Amino acid sequence: MPIIPILMYHNIGVPAQGARLRNLYVRKGAFARQMFMLRLLGYQGLSMSAAMPYLRGEKMGRVAVITFDDGYVDTLENALPILQKNGFSATCYFISQRIGQYNDWDAASLNVRKSLMNQDQIRSWHKAGMEVGAHSRTHPRLTNCTDTELQNEIAGSKSDLEKLTGSAVTQFCYPYGDLDERVTSAVKDAGFEAATTTQRGRARVGDNPFLFRRILVSGSNLLHLFILKLMSGYEDKRG
Ligand SMILES: [Zn+2]
Repeated sequence: MPIIPILMYHNIGVPAQGARLRNLYVRKGAFARQMFMLRLLGYQGLSMSAAMPYLRGEKMGRVAVITFDDGYVDTLENALPILQKNGFSATCYFISQRIGQYNDWDAASLNVRKSLMNQDQIRSWHKAGMEVGAHSRTHPRLTNCTDTELQNEIAGSKSDLEKLTGSAVTQFCYPYGDLDERVTSAVKDAGFEAATTTQRGRARVGDNPFLFRRILVSGSNLLHLFILKLMSGYEDKRG
């Protein structure tokens, strides 16, 4: 079955002093080299929505999906110009009730407050041809939510972001990659077309669209490891 790598990024930039999990940061220069390498290898970098026909097996081609979790300001400021330079699109997953705020769900454990895009910044991202995906309303562990909370977090984030952008929001990403059957059903019932997890590995045509695995691109990855993750079974074995 054809393989479609879905790359997962969090922050593009330099970690603040004292920040933990510095691997979540990919420096701007490293990101630029990765995108250049994708293009050099003949990949078209696409958003989740644009890649859906490939993931469903309706279209063939060398594509890689580019995703950003949480919606940090550095995705707009540092990643967007590089994506544009390469003619790529990407999906960023936003937390619809933390717009213009910070990562309150893990600021304490990471020892850093990271700025999230505000409404205007999300609109700029969208106007640049990039996709707005949903990542819940408040970034909870969805398996701990009651049915009512689940509905609120999942369907609620969809309608919040649709109101903001004036476009359909069809892509979801599970906070912390935390999910079970009840959660995936709620995502499907809310009208999303697909969802990504934090399960490591490369997506394959025919995979359950609500359980897509991704490739973790970490700040310490040198370019050759990036290529290995993209093109070999390296990341699948970590999953
Ligand atoms: Zn997240």
